[in-house]
Amino acid sequence: MSLARGRHVLAIPGPSVMPDRVLNAMHRGAPNIYEGEIIGLTEEVFEGLRKVARTDGKAVIYLSNGHGAWEAALVNTLCRGDSVLALSTGRFAKGWAEMARALGVTVEMVDFGTRAAVEPGRVEEALRRHPGVRAVLLVQTDTASSVLNDVAAVRRAMAAAGSDALLMVDCIASLACDEYHMDAWGADVTVAGCQKGLMTPPGLGLVFVGPRAEAARKRADLVTPYWDWAPRCSPEAYYQKFCGTAPTHHLYGLHEALRMILEEEGLEAVWARHRALSRAVHAAVEAWGRGGPWELNIADPAARSAAVTSIRMGGLDAFALRRHAEGELGVTLGVGLALDNPAAGARETGVFRIGHMGHVSPAVLLGTLAAIETSMDALGMPHGSGALEAAARTLAQATAPGIDRAAE
Ligand SMILES: *Cc1c(COP(=O)(O)O)cnc(C)c1O
Repeated sequence: MSLARGRHVLAIPGPSVMPDRVLNAMHRGAPNIYEGEIIGLTEEVFEGLRKVARTDGKAVIYLSNGHGAWEAALVNTLCRGDSVLALSTGRFAKGWAEMARALGVTVEMVDFGTRAAVEPGRVEEALRRHPGVRAVLLVQTDTASSVLNDVAAVRRAMAAAGSDALLMVDCIASLACDEYHMDAWGADVTVAGCQKGLMTPPGLGLVFVGPRAEAARKRADLVTPYWDWAPRCSPEAYYQKFCGTAPTHHLYGLHEALRMILEEEGLEAVWARHRALSRAVHAAVEAWGRGGPWELNIADPAARSAAVTSIRMGGLDAFALRRHAEGELGVTLGVGLALDNPAAGARETGVFRIGHMGHVSPAVLLGTLAAIETSMDALGMPHGSGALEAAARTLAQATAPGIDRAAE
């Protein structure tokens, strides 16, 4: 019997849950794009984005997804034949590196596997072996493995190796979820998208450009007119910010999302909230694992993202679990991206993911964990007890009166 009625819950790592306020802000007729409200609102969006990335550099918006932002970062800084160092901790740095290769860039790859963060010592060593690399490609949160990498530590390793390469960071999954300080941590380029922590429907690729990256544009020979960030960084007319028609409705939506993040909640509170919610998920998985094959993919708590959690389930059928949760209980869980065997289909990965980025309420997250346990029971999948209590206890501690533990 299916009980999947009522409001459906989406617990995938992007697109994330969109606030009604963001959707409602988009529900309007097209505005005048030559003058009036949209001009000032656009300025506020760019200003807000720079605050979210914690940078004094330039913000650039492409009408694209995250892959477009990846390409923009590469073509504006590199020449055919240049080499870059990619640091892989899951799937996404490899995808970015493949794109670089397709553009004619040589890629040196250091692969840290799928269960641990980048080790700065190995980055330093690799840079000493390849002193000529022009850029280091790092993913802050790899959405496949749910690892969180230490961006500042990678920059320190680059300095220790005497490298003046650009540090380019993919924050597509992590921006406005995991703590990030583009300037203070020494990143030259940050790429993001609007559909994860920024809670806006997919369609905007975001790139933040520091001064060294802006200077690198002068020699880059891979750039094409649409992706060129030079006119977008220093526009003489409004349309040049977008190389054409502005993404008007997305701007209204993102403006509302930025208001919620920066003005109403505060960015630090947003980070702390994601951290607290992620700890509830970790506590539940650890309890399940005391009586079944359930295991957090990332063992080291300091290397776990607050945006998404990848959960291993031994030989159990991840497809069956997700199908039951969705079809019978109304919760869509994230597909596990193959971690051990890239050739495996989604059915055989033995992994599923819970997205807890963006507009996720604690009640919905607790409900998601309860629904997962319900599916485990319905399918006869063994698990330890006390997972829901453990999750509730974690959130009780974070929200107990008198102590602002969320800010810890
Ligand atoms: C989602 C994601 C991407 C890809 O973004 P698209 O919008 O699907 O192109 C790249 N990197 C990371 C870390 C992601 O989470």
